[in-house]
Amino acid sequence: MHYKQVYLSLGSNIGLKEENIKRALKLLDDDKNVKVVHTSSFYETKPWGYINQPDFYNCVSQINTNYEPAGLLRLIQTIETKMGRKRDKKWGPRIIDIDIILFENIILNTEDLTIPHPWMEKRAFVLLPLMELNKEIVHPISKRGIAELVEAVGGEELKEIRRAV
Ligand code: AMP
Repeated sequence: MHYKQVYLSLGSNIGLKEENIKRALKLLDDDKNVKVVHTSSFYETKPWGYINQPDFYNCVSQINTNYEPAGLLRLIQTIETKMGRKRDKKWGPRIIDIDIILFENIILNTEDLTIPHPWMEKRAFVLLPLMELNKEIVHPISKRGIAELVEAVGGEELKEIRRAV
């Protein structure tokens, strides 16, 4: 079986945030087509977009999977729904949010999926945990290395994030 290497970003800003992320990782790993291999530290992040809401906990996990991207998205959405995620306010508070950041080196643009995720190049809460897991990552489109991307997000964005203890 050929497992594909995928990086997921997970976030929560409602209730027991750390527990919510751990539960989502357990539900992912319980699927026979997914193995959660490594998970970064948890980072505490100021909300982005709609700012009048609690801080987020974020992390990145590397998983191995034999799903195709669309199948993985279906699993992610099933898990989000099972955990009580309601799709109301864009950028609003959420019990769990799971995004596909990288899927091998593929580049995909469909109605449902943009891979690499557009946040990958701009958001410290994706870039820092990603670099913690693998310093060799290169963006499949821009070909920029992960350290260069972290540097490019700049001071202000990095001030909004700290490693959770
Ligand atoms: P969100 O509110 O962040 O959970 O957005 C979910 C929507 O984003 C879903 O309906 C997906 O179809 C879409 N989407 C596009 N690209 C991605 C991606 N790389 N990972 C996860 N969801 C994605």
